[in-house]
Amino acid sequence: MPHKTSWQTSVSIVICCGRDLENGEIDKKLKATNLALMAENKRDHTNALEQSIKFLKGVGENRARLLQKMGISTMLDLMEYFPRAYINRKLNPSLFDVQVGDILAFTAMISWVDVRSSAKGKSILNVGVSDGKVALVCSWFSYPHAYEVLFKPGRLLWLSGAVSEFNGQYQMLHPEFELIEEEDGSDGDFWKEREVLPVYPLTAGFTQKLMRRMVYNAFALYAKHLEENLPEAIIDKYGFPERKIALQKMHFSQKPEEAAQLKRRFAYEELFYTQMMWARHKVLHGAKANGITFENKKELTTKLYKQLPFTLTGAQKAVLRELFDDMCSAKQMSRLLQGDVGSGKTVVTLFAMLLAVENGYQAALMAPTEILADQHYNTITSMLKGLEISVCILKGGNYKGKSQTKDDITGGKAQIVIGTHALLQKDISFARLGFVCVDEQHRFGVEQRARLARMALCPDLLYLSATPIPRSLAMTVYGDLEVSIINELPPSRKPVQTLVRSSAKIELVYAQVQKELEAGRQVYIVCPLVEESEKLSLLDATKLFEHISRKAFPQFSSALLHGRMKATEKDEIMNKFKAGETKILVSTTVIEVGVDVPNASVMIVEHAERFGLAQMHQLRGRVGRGSAQSYCYLIEHQPVGKIARERLATMTKTMDGFVIAEKDLELRGPGELFGLEQSGMPMFRFANLMRDQDILNLARQDAFAIVNDDPHLMKPENALLKKLYQHQYTRQEELILY
Ligand code: ADP
Ligand code: MG
Repeated sequence: MPHKTSWQTSVSIVICCGRDLENGEIDKKLKATNLALMAENKRDHTNALEQSIKFLKGVGENRARLLQKMGISTMLDLMEYFPRAYINRKLNPSLFDVQVGDILAFTAMISWVDVRSSAKGKSILNVGVSDGKVALVCSWFSYPHAYEVLFKPGRLLWLSGAVSEFNGQYQMLHPEFELIEEEDGSDGDFWKEREVLPVYPLTAGFTQKLMRRMVYNAFALYAKHLEENLPEAIIDKYGFPERKIALQKMHFSQKPEEAAQLKRRFAYEELFYTQMMWARHKVLHGAKANGITFENKKELTTKLYKQLPFTLTGAQKAVLRELFDDMCSAKQMSRLLQGDVGSGKTVVTLFAMLLAVENGYQAALMAPTEILADQHYNTITSMLKGLEISVCILKGGNYKGKSQTKDDITGGKAQIVIGTHALLQKDISFARLGFVCVDEQHRFGVEQRARLARMALCPDLLYLSATPIPRSLAMTVYGDLEVSIINELPPSRKPVQTLVRSSAKIELVYAQVQKELEAGRQVYIVCPLVEESEKLSLLDATKLFEHISRKAFPQFSSALLHGRMKATEKDEIMNKFKAGETKILVSTTVIEVGVDVPNASVMIVEHAERFGLAQMHQLRGRVGRGSAQSYCYLIEHQPVGKIARERLATMTKTMDGFVIAEKDLELRGPGELFGLEQSGMPMFRFANLMRDQDILNLARQDAFAIVNDDPHLMKPENALLKKLYQHQYTRQEELILY
């Protein structure tokens, strides 16, 4: 639960939005940001609730260190550390209508204990439990020795796990459990009499008993300091319980079914204040009112439209309308364009660039790698054939013709400029930059994006992202950006056939691949790591390459690409593959970004069980770009865990990046989503962006309504909100507002 850093990481999201800062100013801002972060770390120790947990009765230095690992450093943190389950100490007949596959949590009595040896000489521990009516066997195949003395007939056991069946009997394999003991009464008998007990997520070194005692002490001593933190109008609107009561109930309620409802309140708080920040950011510092007002002259754009070899999809047209509306208004555009791999974002961007050009402005497109910049340059120049527009490309390092390109940019001769982050170098200045597009925006650092944005006064800004994220997440990560979505692939695109295969059957896969190669197609093989790691015994790209080039497909040219290579080396290999000279590319995940080789029809992902969903989806997006039927083989190496299995199944079921992203969010949680680490996705303590989308919508509406009506929170009815907001969020706000 790394929640204390949540706001700190969220800083980076916003700095990209194009305030035009003087040279050097940005660095100062970043420094100030760091200072503010440090200040944020120093908490307000005069506040009783903010006191270090080590001062709590029964804690001390050592336990405080352990608690810190769980994200608990103050009294309040402990009080906000919610149980993950509740135990009912009474025998409950929840086994009555039990079915195989049910996930249960219940209390039962141990009726017998049995240890036996398996054929392989290992011990198996079976513990029979019964709720008085129905019996069930809990089995452990591998367990600490201590378990054998822990379980005794007659003891009460709380169990949680999935019900399976074995030999006609209900069984739970390796259930989670807690022995229910008589409390020793050291809290003045508090827990002793309780029927329902909280179960906390713990790190090693703690017991539930100890944790319960600490929580009890914290509330006994500090509950009086707990204050409300939501405006009365909102509490009334949703019928939320008072904060102090809600917190107490989370730990001490005798009706655990209340918890879900209570949690909504805490999720709301968190989302409401995030959205307050975004609302204020947007209203006070959002896209500038004095941006460029382009005029839709329909000169160059119409020409391009007429000469395109395909018709735009409905989604592309709709997005174009959104972009043009923004660009033709006086307000500076600040928009995120999300579209799945291959959905055709580049051509949409090109129309926007032409709108800028036909108005006498320059347009820039920044890509994260030279390969991608080259690719854009080639696509764009070929699409613009006959339009007499000057397109140039700017890369890093020194090369022939670079100074001419720079002059063209400065002099205004270059109308469309495509480049890498070399575009951001200090000696590059545009004559009249009116539009900037950042491709694969999450690949750029905060500072880089901010630099591009400040190169001219208020150019319209478009960020492209091929990592589709659910709307709920977009609203939190890019809370002040407008979001456009291309949710449709060009009709010519054939869905990639996706197959999960066991590594034991790799020869069958290779036989299929052979056919594709013989038909002249190309193949990607991706593995997770470059070097062999003993621990994970992953297939190592180098070894695999040897196998592919010498044994599996010696008759086809193959190449190895990995992240440790020099950029020039990588480019050379990639270019050969693009040109069709190399037929098989064995690679680590470095190829995942936007590379376009329409002739490649097979993607093999080795150790697919180790990849995240979004990443597999990106990889699969490398094929299926041409007219041929393409294949994606996901090779699993045993054993495959439950979540990994679900990921693989999802891949075979859908090609829709948004569906995949939702599933990813559900399986992994937002912080781990591919590509979002860099974008500074805030981690929430209480809110769950999948579960709480409805709350997020409400919180966003409420926050924006309040701020639109009263940006500085000057109205009397907002006085309390202002106080709370200032107390808790001003520092964080300073980080994002400038
Ligand atoms: P993205 O950047 O969104 O992954 P691209 O812009 O690279 O996708 O487009 C992928 C391919 O699809 C390109 O070859 C492009 O020319 C083509 N394309 C784009 N729009 C369409 C369309 N409406 N119909 C057919 N092909 C299209
Ligand atoms: Mg692209």
